[in-house]
Amino acid sequence: MSPRESYDAVVVGGGHNGLVAAAYLARAGKSVVVLERLGRTGGAAISAQAFPGVEARLSRYSYLVSLLPRKIVDELGLRFRLRKRSVASYTPAERGGRATGLLVTRDAARTRESFERFTGSDAEFEAWQAFYGSAAHLAERVFPTLTEPLPSRAELRRRVDDDRIWNTFFEIPLGETIRRRFADDLVRGVVLTDGLIGTFASAEDEDLRQNRCLLYHVIGGGTGDWDVPVGGMGALTDALAAAARSAGAEIRTGHEVTAIAADGARAEVRYATGEGTGTVGAAAVLVNASPEALAALLGETDGAPRAEGSQLKVNMLLERLPRLRDTGVDPREAFAGTFHVSESFEQLEAAHAEAAAGRLPSRPPSEIYCHSLSDPSILGDDLARRGYQTLTLFGLHAPARLFAGGEDANRRRRAELLDATIAQLDRYLDEPLADCLAADGDGRPCIEAKTPVDLERDLRLPGGNIFHGDLSWPFRTEAASGRWGVETGRANVFLCGAGAARGGGVSGIPGHNAAMAVLERGQRFSDGPR
Ligand SMILES: Cc1cc2nc3c(=O)[nH]c(=O)nc-3n(C[C@H](O)[C@H](O)[C@H](O)COP(=O)(O)OP(=O)(O)OC[C@H]3O[C@@H](n4cnc5c(N)ncnc54)[C@H](O)[C@@H]3O)c2cc1C
Repeated sequence: MSPRESYDAVVVGGGHNGLVAAAYLARAGKSVVVLERLGRTGGAAISAQAFPGVEARLSRYSYLVSLLPRKIVDELGLRFRLRKRSVASYTPAERGGRATGLLVTRDAARTRESFERFTGSDAEFEAWQAFYGSAAHLAERVFPTLTEPLPSRAELRRRVDDDRIWNTFFEIPLGETIRRRFADDLVRGVVLTDGLIGTFASAEDEDLRQNRCLLYHVIGGGTGDWDVPVGGMGALTDALAAAARSAGAEIRTGHEVTAIAADGARAEVRYATGEGTGTVGAAAVLVNASPEALAALLGETDGAPRAEGSQLKVNMLLERLPRLRDTGVDPREAFAGTFHVSESFEQLEAAHAEAAAGRLPSRPPSEIYCHSLSDPSILGDDLARRGYQTLTLFGLHAPARLFAGGEDANRRRRAELLDATIAQLDRYLDEPLADCLAADGDGRPCIEAKTPVDLERDLRLPGGNIFHGDLSWPFRTEAASGRWGVETGRANVFLCGAGAARGGGVSGIPGHNAAMAVLERGQRFSDGPR
């Protein structure tokens, strides 16, 4: 029986990428429906009041934007703003029995001075400038290609047009490059961290997962800057949903897709709601859920190893920022950028080795950021006036496997890792973090932690992987051989989420590319149902 409802395109999932795809298709005159299982859109790009009775809307999962192309913002007419951070990072340390730290700001002279004070010479700063100079060249050349058809490896290499830079980022394990170019263990670690966000890898891994992760962290916007979404991540999702709706797309929340049948020309999408089940027909299906979920919806197993996330995400609300042991820096500056904790190169490698051996890292590495310093609008007026601040912490090397074994095991290990992570931060503070935590409406401290197991349960991120799987190279490979990197084994089914080639992060890129792939099918739609 053919379904009563029919559209040009059904989008499975209303994450930010699904909304981008829907907006592009609707603007091109296609009839589109988005089916989202949760009661809200946005997936992992949302703002939420995480603590009951407290008027603070935190970016609950993702929090900084780098990879969203200006082209998408302009073409969709998004009413959405980003704010630059004045400080890139601060890394506290103890040197010669003294509390000190490394500060990287937008002011090169000040950053040079900090490197010299911290390392005793200007060699590390020179190495830093050279490395990030190469990254800037790469960003300028590679970023514009992400919204074009997927190039071959040779084509991209020609675009990069610099063998040394190509080899650094695409051929040699990141650890080797870092060890060759930098001497200071802590400076080495600060460079390495961008290769490990959401990615469980050693600096030296031969499969270069860490290189791919670094790549996406240094090319965003053609500059590699990570900016603050004004109003939080939810502001971006709201702008995207508004753009999709105003172009004519229909968005239905509370609709969980349970199966997709597609023969290359037509498709039927089955869904379940609280009230029952239904089916919609479509010429094309765009899947914002993970590749793993797509295989299950098609009734296939893709045979690929399960994806695995590797982070602890902690959200906090503070009554005030904590005092630092390093009195040479104002906490308002130190927390305005990425605040690195226990992230020297050796510490990161040690934490990876412990986790790979099945143990929680004894000195868990993490990075912290205070959103409300750059954008107090996420706090209610009263909290802002009283000087409250949000803190978000992203812990590395916490693979899902360490939290397996059921909800009790997950809860126990989450608490254990959270305590150990905060203890590492406390080493650099002049007062325990716990003393600064605000209390929620029930008098409980405002702190919530999410393991990969929690993220899989709440958001369906496969294995808690924040990118739906390992990040891909931005060129054609055996795994991604289609024209846009969004194609699947079925001609009218496309991935439009983070798991597509050039997916991952809050970028809208796979959403854009899937829409382009569908639109290229062109006039075939003219025969399609309405
Ligand atoms: C803790 C954390 C921190 C992060 N920090 C950053 C950051 O600072 N900056 C950054 O750029 N990226 C960050 N990321 C990564 C980024 O958030 C994700 O890569 C991005 O949200 C992926 O977007 P998406 O739209 O492709 O998928 P998702 O956000 O995962 O959305 C997929 C949607 O599909 C829905 N869905 C799934 N299955 C079905 C089904 N069967 N039927 C209907 N709907 C379904 C889901 O409910 C969800 O709404 C972070 C992620 C996490 C988890």
